[in-house]
Amino acid sequence: MSGKRRRIYLSPPHLGTKELDFVHEAFASNWISPVGPHIDAFETEFARLVGVKHAVALSSGTAAIHLALRHLGLKAGDEVFCSTLTFIGSANPIVYEGARPVFIDSDTRSWNMDPGLLADELGRCAQRGRLPRAVIAVDLYGQCADLEAIEGICRRHGVPLIEDAAEALGATCAGRNAGTFGWAGIFSFNGNKIITTAGGGMLATADQELAEASRFLSRQARDPAPHYQHSRIGFNYRLSNVLAAIGRGQLAVLPDRIAARRRNFELYRKFLGDRPGISFMPEAGFGRATRWLTCILVDSKAFGASPEAIRQHLETLDIESRPLWKPLHLQPVFSGCRAVGGKVSEELFVKGLCLPSGSDLTEGDVRAICEAVLSARTK
Ligand SMILES: *Cc1c(COP(=O)(O)O)cnc(C)c1O
Repeated sequence: MSGKRRRIYLSPPHLGTKELDFVHEAFASNWISPVGPHIDAFETEFARLVGVKHAVALSSGTAAIHLALRHLGLKAGDEVFCSTLTFIGSANPIVYEGARPVFIDSDTRSWNMDPGLLADELGRCAQRGRLPRAVIAVDLYGQCADLEAIEGICRRHGVPLIEDAAEALGATCAGRNAGTFGWAGIFSFNGNKIITTAGGGMLATADQELAEASRFLSRQARDPAPHYQHSRIGFNYRLSNVLAAIGRGQLAVLPDRIAARRRNFELYRKFLGDRPGISFMPEAGFGRATRWLTCILVDSKAFGASPEAIRQHLETLDIESRPLWKPLHLQPVFSGCRAVGGKVSEELFVKGLCLPSGSDLTEGDVRAICEAVLSARTK
């Protein structure tokens, strides 16, 4: 490689051609606020695309989880189950509501919540007569958890399932779209996700009461009155009309983004797949992943470099990579919380590395990244 090439980021925003037109429209009509026609259109278009009855546009994915939990009326000390291998945004709202997270380990098929562990633990909780108030199952790195199984287990125990599909818009499981399982699905449009509104989220549900309550609470719970009247505590969680305009443009390019991310994955596999000590995140037979991020596992001895050595070497070449999510049961802030299993996610964390996966990468970029990975070896 010669000359100064641009820094390669892990998962940068990738705008299409319609976003700016929609934003201009928002400016021209002076709808620069959390009300406006783009919000309604974004919700309608999103609901149609994903195949859900109601979609509520919010300021973040974390806010969407929070509003779903808020609707359940949790009490201090209630338990909520959550995947352990995930971003902390999945679990923080449990604590906002005064409840206690219980972290469930991954399976090796999809790296997501292990349905067997979930079934066992719910069985034990039922025997004790103290079921969790909700289960938050995460779809990691663009791949669904075994959601048919998880949905069935939750239904048997009457526990609401919240599907955290923040990383999996466009993925499918058993022919159904990510975010449509269980009681509520949540999405994120943060800058690193497969499509972005700079920052934003969506709550998707068939439950009209949940949708209406969430829309109400997201605008500071303003009662219908000419003056400002409030009989409940709300939040400032509504998405702005300008950001919804960006989201509408991004929805139009989602199929292209998925194709590009899957192509990245195939290129990585072509250039690195036969190297000893390197393996890839599996695609479980029950669904189709978007490959939002391409993740590898590194056997340091067999490959000749540790994931951290690779990461540091890539950094010297201005290439960004990241470890997998540190399991939440290992996070200092959750040190007092219960965990069910944990060895699988711990091993994934030690061996894993997320490689640059932007939808604007060229084949030449991926080839260069793979050469850089290989040149991290010390033998
Ligand atoms: C990004 C993300 C969230 C939070 O979304 P924000 O929009 O950043 O609040 C939640 N869960 C997972 C798994 C995520 O990756």
